[in-house]
Amino acid sequence: MTDWPLPLKASCLCGQVKMTITAPPICTFACHCRACQKLTGGAYSLTLMLPATGLKVEGETEIGGLHRPELHHHFCTHCKNWLYTDGFAEGLVNMRPTLLEDASWFIPYAETMTTDRLPGAQTGAQVSFDGFPGEADFPALMEGFARHGARPG
Ligand SMILES: [Zn+2]
Ligand SMILES: [Zn+2]
Repeated sequence: MTDWPLPLKASCLCGQVKMTITAPPICTFACHCRACQKLTGGAYSLTLMLPATGLKVEGETEIGGLHRPELHHHFCTHCKNWLYTDGFAEGLVNMRPTLLEDASWFIPYAETMTTDRLPGAQTGAQVSFDGFPGEADFPALMEGFARHGARPG
């Protein structure tokens, strides 16, 4: 049972990589960390956290970003858009909701690393963390998101 209008479609700037979301997101985030500021070229990154089985990717991608063994930033080989991240937790993937065909509904449920927040950056998040949430924070995050998180439409 889900109130998500699935599938959701997304693509990179040039359109050569297409993504389809077929499972309800687990939570949504904004991250203010310095790495996200540099990766996006913006004030913060936005994330739709999904079960890895719920993200289908078509088109050529390559690893970029931090090149860490436990964190794989996937990019379009042509326009170099940052598409999604995996490797940080078994069975999970973080995709960039700004790439959705319709991103107009998106408000992150939680924001992380507010210690690095730029003075003018406002996200609309309902929950804030100075650092990154730990494993123990996730049950409450998932429940809060399921009840109060923004949805398409
Ligand atoms: Zn970050
Ligand atoms: Zn592209």
